[in-house]
Amino acid sequence: MNSTEVLNGLKRRFPNEPEYHQAVSEVLASIEDVYNQHPEFEEYNLIERLCIPDRIVSFRVTWVDDYGRVQTNMGYRIQHNCAIGPYKGGIRFHASVNQSILKFLAFEQTFKNALTTLPMGGAKGGSDFNPKGKSDDEIMRFCQAFILELWRHIGPETDVPAGDIGVGGREVGFMFGMYKKLAREHTGTFTGKGITFGGSLMRPEATGYGNVYFLQQMLATRGIGIEGKTVCISGSGNVAQYTAEKLISLGAKVVTMSDSNGYIYDPDGITRDKLDYIMHLKNVERGRIREYAEKYGCKYVEGARPWGEKCDIAMPSATQNEINGEEARTLLANGCFAVSEGANMPSTPEAIDAFLNAKILYAPGKAANAGGVSVSGLEMTQNSQKLSWSAEEVDSKLKSIMENIHSQCVKYGTQPDGYVNYVKGANISGFMKVATAMMEQGIL
Ligand code: NDP
Repeated sequence: MNSTEVLNGLKRRFPNEPEYHQAVSEVLASIEDVYNQHPEFEEYNLIERLCIPDRIVSFRVTWVDDYGRVQTNMGYRIQHNCAIGPYKGGIRFHASVNQSILKFLAFEQTFKNALTTLPMGGAKGGSDFNPKGKSDDEIMRFCQAFILELWRHIGPETDVPAGDIGVGGREVGFMFGMYKKLAREHTGTFTGKGITFGGSLMRPEATGYGNVYFLQQMLATRGIGIEGKTVCISGSGNVAQYTAEKLISLGAKVVTMSDSNGYIYDPDGITRDKLDYIMHLKNVERGRIREYAEKYGCKYVEGARPWGEKCDIAMPSATQNEINGEEARTLLANGCFAVSEGANMPSTPEAIDAFLNAKILYAPGKAANAGGVSVSGLEMTQNSQKLSWSAEEVDSKLKSIMENIHSQCVKYGTQPDGYVNYVKGANISGFMKVATAMMEQGIL
């Protein structure tokens, strides 16, 4: 396999999908050597079968807004790979959603899910529906209309969606309710459900907490602790909030959070009380991060990202390609020595090269943010056993899964000079598991 040729072939067949090409390119470069040590992979054309999704479902979603106007959006589900378990991956509602973005996310999800060691294949779905400024009733009607099409393609043993950008507990509840009505079954077809109807304790916290557990493991390889470290976080949604919560509880100083309008910089650090304010602002009032700066009298920068602020550690937790090469170089120049990704593919290829060349601790999202889908996997187990575990039990399982993912990265990513390339480690480890399962199941 020649990774450039494979990538060029995919670009020819699937043009105008830059995010998908970017995600595939990173994985191909990492696994090329290992792949070529297995001639049987090439004989079975494993690489194309792994890069091209099993299937893509796309559909129109029609719904009625509060003014009686009939609206349309596009809905998608990318079922990427089910070699190691039922399709599994979140649903994203954001105006920017298109097939390329969902294909990159489903591709990444396949390797991430393999890393968790739980039996889950990879998928992703969503819509270009923009939830901002919509009433609860509009959100409900949209979710119901979305599921009216999607319900046929999902199920507890086939495909189990969850949340992502723009989809939290409220949206999962509405989608699950409609699914249950149409399918006439109460099964664990969604994860991230409410606690009263099959949700797992610790699922909301899982991605953020998991990222901090992963960071702790990375720091430990250099004998560093989290206490007293200054951290820049981007985003102020689910992942950002619980990343901040865990960091604060461990004595770190979180100085930035952001949303799509701008970022706040609080040199005194966001305390537990201030974070409670952010959680209420974002989860209940659905307000803007700018209001934090107005309330606490700190700096707010409109239309910018936080990477120009000085920090020891950066934890991007908003969206893809939110750290470019220049921002990466600024972070490094300001002394940043660890980047652990809560978001999926937040660093551009140029930024990743800068981090790896500087040999800082750099964890790609598919390893560092795998805690969310891991606890989703644990939610599926609890649902099928018709049991619910305590928060302590789930948290301790989450910790050991993150430790295990870290060990796999170290095993497959340690370079001759001792530097751990977590990108390579995560990609090779995830790839080998999916590849082995595909080979053993024949040509499909
Ligand atoms: P939320 O919708 O809860 O929060 C997203 C945050 O990112 C918001 O603050 C949002 O601001 C900001 N944001 C979204 N799009 C953009 C953009 N284009 N530019 C700038 N800021 C933006 O989503 P999550 O916290 O769940 O997800 C965040 C990231 O983490 C995503 O990359 C997601 O794929 C990834 N992830 C999430 C998991 C989960 O369990 N939820 C699991 C693994 C990964 P605004 O409110 O203004 O839109």
